[in-house]
Formats: sequence, C-alpha cells, structure tokens
Amino acid sequence: MEKFDVVIIGSGPGGYIAAIRAGQLGLKTAIIEKDKELGGTCLNVGCIPSKALLTSSDHFMFAKKEAEKHGIVIDNVNLDLPKMQQRKDKVVKTFTGGVRALMKTNKVTTFEGLGMITAPGKVSVKSSNGQTQEIETKNIVLATGSAPIELPFAKFDGKTIVSSTEALTFTETPKKFLVIGAGAIGLELGSVWNRLGSEVTILEFLPRIAVGFDLELSNLLQRSLTAQGMTFHL
Ligand SMILES: Cc1cc2nc3c(=O)[nH]c(=O)nc-3n(C[C@H](O)[C@H](O)[C@H](O)COP(=O)(O)OP(=O)(O)OC[C@H]3O[C@@H](n4cnc5c(N)ncnc54)[C@H](O)[C@@H]3O)c2cc1C
Repeated sequence: MEKFDVVIIGSGPGGYIAAIRAGQLGLKTAIIEKDKELGGTCLNVGCIPSKALLTSSDHFMFAKKEAEKHGIVIDNVNLDLPKMQQRKDKVVKTFTGGVRALMKTNKVTTFEGLGMITAPGKVSVKSSNGQTQEIETKNIVLATGSAPIELPFAKFDGKTIVSSTEALTFTETPKKFLVIGAGAIGLELGSVWNRLGSEVTILEFLPRIAVGFDLELSNLLQRSLTAQGMTFHL
C-alpha cells in the first residue's frame, strides 16, 4: 500500500493549492480527483468558462450595438456559437493542463477516481473502471467543494431545466432564458445569454439582486443590466 504524508481529496482551487504547498514543503503528497480533468468547478464549469463566455459575449455586444457609436462600421455581425464554445473549451483546457503540470512540478501524485476515507489514515480510490486502490496517509485534506442543488419544484432535466454547468455549454442561443437566483452566477449567465440574443428574465426571492454587495452597487448593477435588456422579478 502506497504511503503519503498528505492526501488531498478534490482538485479544485482549494485542493490543488493545498497540494502545491504541501509539495513545496517537502511532504509526500497525493491528490485524488473523481473527474477527468483537474481544477474542480472553478476551472472546468465555473469561474474560467463563465469568464471566457462573458468576454466573448461582450465583444459580440460591442460589435453589434456599440461599435457604430464609435464610428466603427462592422457589416453583418453574426454569432458563431460553436466557435465561441470551442474558444471557451480551449481556455479551460489550457488552465486544467496548467494545474496538471503544476502537480508534476511539485511532485504531487495524481489519482483519478472517487476518494473515500475507509479508516483513520486510510483512503480508497475507486476509478471509473470499478477498480479500487487503497492508500495510506498521515494527513487528509477534504477539498470536495460543492455541486449545484436542485429546487424541489424545478428538478434538472439537462434540457429545459439546467444547472450552471449546462448553461455554459448551450449550442444554440435559447429564445427565452429564465434564471432563478440573482447571485453572481445567475447574473453572469443571464448577461452572457442576454448579450447573445436571449430574452432573459431573472427571478429573485429577495427584494434586491447581488446580495452581499453594497445596496448602492446592487441597484446600479440592476439598472445597468435592465438597460442591457434583462427583466427582473424580485
Ligand atoms: C458558473 C460559476 C462561476 C463562478 N465564478 C467564480 C468567480 O468568478 N470567482 C470565484 O471566486 N468563484 C467563482 N465560482 C465559485 C468557484 O467555482 C468555487 O468557489 C470554487 O470552485 C471552490 O473551490 P473548491 O476547491 O472548494 O471546490 P471545487 O472547485 O468544487 O472542487 C472540488 C473538486 O473535488 C472533486 N471531488 C468531490 N468529491 C470527491 C471525491 N469524493 N473524490 C474525488 N474528488 C472529489 C470534484 O469533482 C471537484 O473537482 C463560480 C462558480 C460557478 C459554478
């Protein structure tokens, strides 16, 4: 049974940073990830792909609505969504590949599979082909992150009711796009699809959007997004 000083379960920003640091400190380190790529939600289906689409959709909106005001004439502005998605996937790949390289540089052993603590100091890794491997460790770091939750009245079907993960991969612009929740993720994805041509409505059960920000900022953001064409029901 292979022995480590520290085993980290989960390779998102929490896990991979911990692994790098442990490696730098000279600890024999392993990281376990159940998904194919390292980097967790943030790199694969969170911060990075959403920012890639925000940037692309911003360029599209500029070309379509703003350029003319600057005296820039762009004829026939069309959306090539598959190409936009390809660019996003390429950006994600660069980042996740970077994390894999960082694991190597810092001598961190990578295991692909579902990590489970089976006893004190013992972790099993169940890979997708059903094989299980046991490893021993002095320390364990849980960095398993979070996953989208379903609402009881709107269960995900992957087609018309989706989580943020699927909303990052649409191959066609939805005609109408309803977002439940006016937090950062809902507003970002609402902005992307609004800029790309969807009729976007945001539903929020609190009396304001972007809770957690100053009220002044929330109000300003709502005004700006309304001006861009988004509808809010608070
Ligand atoms: C659309 C979207 C946009 C976002 N944008 C931003 C942003 O701009 N800025 C920002 O700061 N945050 C953003 N976030 C939030 C950010 O993604 C999370 O805060 C961050 O990913 C949390 O990191 P983590 O390491 O804790 O967990 P995660 O990134 O969720 O990583 C956990 C990892 O653990 C793995 N795992 C879980 N259980 C096991 C197991 N038993 N065995 C093996 N592996 C396991 C998972 O597969 C996953 O890869 C965004 C999130 C979303 C969904």
